[in-house]
Amino acid sequence: MRLSQRLLGGFLLIILVLVALVVTSVERRVRERLLQQAAAGLLREARLVAMTTTDATNPDSIADILAATLGHRVTLVAGDGRVLGDSEFDDAALAQMENHRTRPEVVSAGLNDTGTAVRRSASAGDVEVYAAVRDGDGVARVSLAFATQSLVEAQLRRDIFSAAALAAVAALVLALLFSRSVTRPILELRDDARAIAGGDLRRRPSLSAPGEVGELASAFHRLAEQLTARVEALEADDALLRAVSDALNEGVVALDSRQQVQQINEGARRLLQVRDALPFSADQLPRDRALREALADAMAGRSVDGVETRLGERVVTITARPLTGGGAVLALFDITPIRRLETVRRDFVANVSHELKTPLTVVSGFAETLQDESVSTDQRRQFLRTILNNTQRMHRLVDDLLDLSRIESGGWRPAPTLIDLGAVASETLSSFSEVAGQKGIELKVEIDPEATTARMDPTAIRQVLTNLVHNAIRHTARGAVTIFTEKSADQVTVGVRDTGSGIAAEHLPRVFERFYRVDASRSRAEGGTGLGLAIVKHLVEAHGGAVTAESVVGTGTTFRVTLPA
Ligand code: ADP
Repeated sequence: MRLSQRLLGGFLLIILVLVALVVTSVERRVRERLLQQAAAGLLREARLVAMTTTDATNPDSIADILAATLGHRVTLVAGDGRVLGDSEFDDAALAQMENHRTRPEVVSAGLNDTGTAVRRSASAGDVEVYAAVRDGDGVARVSLAFATQSLVEAQLRRDIFSAAALAAVAALVLALLFSRSVTRPILELRDDARAIAGGDLRRRPSLSAPGEVGELASAFHRLAEQLTARVEALEADDALLRAVSDALNEGVVALDSRQQVQQINEGARRLLQVRDALPFSADQLPRDRALREALADAMAGRSVDGVETRLGERVVTITARPLTGGGAVLALFDITPIRRLETVRRDFVANVSHELKTPLTVVSGFAETLQDESVSTDQRRQFLRTILNNTQRMHRLVDDLLDLSRIESGGWRPAPTLIDLGAVASETLSSFSEVAGQKGIELKVEIDPEATTARMDPTAIRQVLTNLVHNAIRHTARGAVTIFTEKSADQVTVGVRDTGSGIAAEHLPRVFERFYRVDASRSRAEGGTGLGLAIVKHLVEAHGGAVTAESVVGTGTTFRVTLPA
């Protein structure tokens, strides 16, 4: 039931009780007073009757006359109680009338000069109001039918009731207004409280009521302020935590006891490939066995440490912990790069071993043969040349490996100076002029006037150009090998172009990998280590530059080294 209705109900009850009390008590008093007044009026009339009837010769007719004048019944009683005259009865009836000596009002008048009574009339049969006065020996009595009196009272009662009804209606209207005015601020506060509880933290009670309700409103205002401050602090904490967890490379997933994902960071979304909005069911997570088992164990209260599994392309270790109060946290660590590095290292060791194995076998085979005394001097010389060639090849390989490892490990740092590109290009080509001349290959330099210099380590640029030109000459049968420069925006490019065999598109992206060769046996036969382009790439990248290759099979290849100007 609403407050205003309860208030109104209370008021209604009070009004009804009050009206009922007032009406009954007023009605009773007014009736008594009316009766008293009627009795007093009758008494005055009785006195008049007594004065008028002294020594009357025909008392009954006098009684009739007086009654007609007064409008009330008049009775004259002798000292012995006989009725001498009565306005209601004629002479014949008078003789039949009962002796009135014992009538209460007559008895009282005999004793105290006056007497009144309300009682049923023995002679007239109705209830009457009597007033009697002593008249010499006898008694003069005036009476009034109570029915007449009741008529007046009924009229009066109607008046009282209608006044009471009017008062009750007026009181009810006032009570309604009052209950409204009392409940309105409370209802306002209730609406404000509901709005705040519903998340509208900006809402404040606009109320400025006096008294307790006003105090309640201002207390509520303070409460809302504190609540807002706390919520904002919590939200800030939450945002910070989220930012931190999103910044982590590791994936973190928190689930509640009903297997609903409540928190998930960007790392975990990436690894698990889930984009659903929070919260979502654990069923949305990948159907990976290790993941499911780790989750089930943590849900059952058991910790799981570093279980390795494969999620799509990624290798991940999963750690799971149960949460106090139900639920679990999963931590996912992406170990793909570690596993990839391990593979690279394994491949590298295998490659190096493989590269060294062939020349070592040759060297040890020929050395063994040389132990034989019967080998001719010519053969001996030829064997020694082969041994020397293979040791030189191993030497080159070890040199290249050492270079590469120095650059990769950061042990070597470039010391860039301003390089005259034309001079370095000519110098590099001059060391190949003999080989090129034998193959009939033209060596050219094309310097763009806009790009004559570059900032680079002098040793590094020489090694880069040497490696590129060496490759170009090896893979070119006729035509030309050109060192050229280009200028673009804020970059300087140094390149080597040839008119050789070219590299097929499927090999092109991989030629910078260590030991990657398009034709391994040919490369080895020509003394290649498979490390030349890897060294170029690392040297250029150490300068903040990049190297690219373009090629058309049968037409030629162009390598471009681009450096920041
Ligand atoms: P290698 O010691 O075998 O030359 P590199 O790393 O220098 O090793 O080169 C890798 C591979 O790239 C070579 O084996 C060769 O197949 C290819 N290559 C490099 N330069 C050229 C070029 N100018 N023309 C055609 N193929 C080339």
